[in-house]
Amino acid sequence: MRSTMQDAQLTIGSLMKHGTTVHGDSEVVTATSDGTRSQTYAELGKRAARLANGLRSLGVEGDQRVGTFQWNNAEHLEAYLAIPSMGAVLHTLNIRLFPQQLVYIANHAEDQVVIVDDSLVGLLAPHLPEMETVHHVLVAGPDAASADLDSLRSSGKEVLLYEDLLAEQSDEFDWPELDERDAAAMCYTSGTTGNPKGVVYSHRSAWLHSQAVSTGNVGGLSFHDRVLPIVPMFHANAWGLAYAALMSGASLCMPDRWLQAEPLCRFMNESKPTVSGAVPTVWNDVLGHLDRFPDRKPASLRLILCGGSAVPVSLQKALQDRHGLLVRQAWGMTETSPVASAGMPPVGIEAEGEWSYRGSQGRVLCGVEGRIVADDGSEQPWDGRAVGELQVRGPWVTASYYESDDPDVDQKFDDGWLRTGDVGSIDELGYIRLSDRAKDVIKSGGEWISSVDLENALMAHEDVVEAAVIGIPDEKWDERPLASVVVREGASLTPAELREFLSKDFAKWQLPDAWAFIDEVPRTSVGKFDKKVLRRWYAEDEIAVEKAD
Ligand code: ADP
Repeated sequence: MRSTMQDAQLTIGSLMKHGTTVHGDSEVVTATSDGTRSQTYAELGKRAARLANGLRSLGVEGDQRVGTFQWNNAEHLEAYLAIPSMGAVLHTLNIRLFPQQLVYIANHAEDQVVIVDDSLVGLLAPHLPEMETVHHVLVAGPDAASADLDSLRSSGKEVLLYEDLLAEQSDEFDWPELDERDAAAMCYTSGTTGNPKGVVYSHRSAWLHSQAVSTGNVGGLSFHDRVLPIVPMFHANAWGLAYAALMSGASLCMPDRWLQAEPLCRFMNESKPTVSGAVPTVWNDVLGHLDRFPDRKPASLRLILCGGSAVPVSLQKALQDRHGLLVRQAWGMTETSPVASAGMPPVGIEAEGEWSYRGSQGRVLCGVEGRIVADDGSEQPWDGRAVGELQVRGPWVTASYYESDDPDVDQKFDDGWLRTGDVGSIDELGYIRLSDRAKDVIKSGGEWISSVDLENALMAHEDVVEAAVIGIPDEKWDERPLASVVVREGASLTPAELREFLSKDFAKWQLPDAWAFIDEVPRTSVGKFDKKVLRRWYAEDEIAVEKAD
């Protein structure tokens, strides 16, 4: 028997319509160099229509991709709404990618138009000539007119001011009826090695994920809230907070490029967010600032969502005990939209016992299923002890990667489950506890560094015999790379020389700042680099580490 229910499509367009009409009085506030600027959701809806008309006039049709190279601000939000709702696909370009990867993803996705913030023109311009499919660039932001537009024009692309384009358009758009399973947005994730891989979100997956993020087990959002996504909109959709806010009518506070503790605290005191989301590095920085200036506490904040890396209990305790700020850990990946689990403690737990749960990655959200699979492929019991790889599946978990050229891509999936590359256990109450990472990557300040890419680059040096890179704990960045290098007999190398050598292929923040010169890299029984031994050597001070930055 079929239901009698209507078959309305779960689209970004419907979410936008709800947010910009029913909650037309909510607002998006964006930080500026000397204060804030704001517009209501009703105005946002009109400007999204203008943007859609403008993009159509530039030839954007069907499911073509439109790239954004933007901070978290009102214009980026307009793109988040207009592009998927007109049937095109929003491609958020990660401004922190190494240039070769940035060019690769723009070409792989075949971006037609790129919207760039005035403050990011200098970062985009050198790479624009190589972005083959891009024909127009729109420069957004209050200082767009004084940006170096010639540096963009020298690429041969048409360059327009975002506001000039919008000014010519109608604030009505004939939004098409879309299929909820069609592509709405895409995001590339850099893996262990090789080219980044594209994850394509559907309207339906974004819709369901936003609802899950809005529930009490994660953000508990309502139109009485004001949401501050510090996690970038160019990285895993700002954890879905932008769409979740439109859905629940919560106002949005956008920090733009001011992500240091001091301007962030000032912005929080001005814009009065109730819920915010960012990686531990940011909250660590905020903690240090508040310890020095306790009166700058963002008193409006009722909840901090934190994830992207393990969230130390010590950080959560310090923010709570010293500044009354409540932290909730969440876990996820670009591949899982990204939020898949969150760490609210169970009912009836005494104060101290609670921390064991708050230090965990939490319980999966309804819609997501999780399991632990051991090396031999067997599914493990939920007993809090059996350890294996965490695998997940569900309607906002990717089932493949977009036209990937990685020959090993099938190994990322196991019988319909996504293999996360995260290792841990699940306890009797369903709490996930991650203890290790099977994938060979380092996460520094929320962004990836591939240890394998660093090793390959180092081993290309004529005086390097072998090199192995591991992540080591870092108070500020969560993790930083340590390179252990075997130097050719008779040769001598310094960390500074090797950093210089690597700098042609890596961004400065990706270069190892800890170095060890060793006689040989330890190996497993099958001859692979044994990184567990390297980690133990480091933890037990068995290798001499030199710092260089
Ligand atoms: P995001 O940074 O948005 O979570 P990425 O796809 O860049 O998305 O990174 C996902 C990976 O980050 C996970 O597979 C895991 O290794 C790590 N990660 C994310 N959240 C946590 C967490 N709460 N605890 C431990 N590791 C985490």
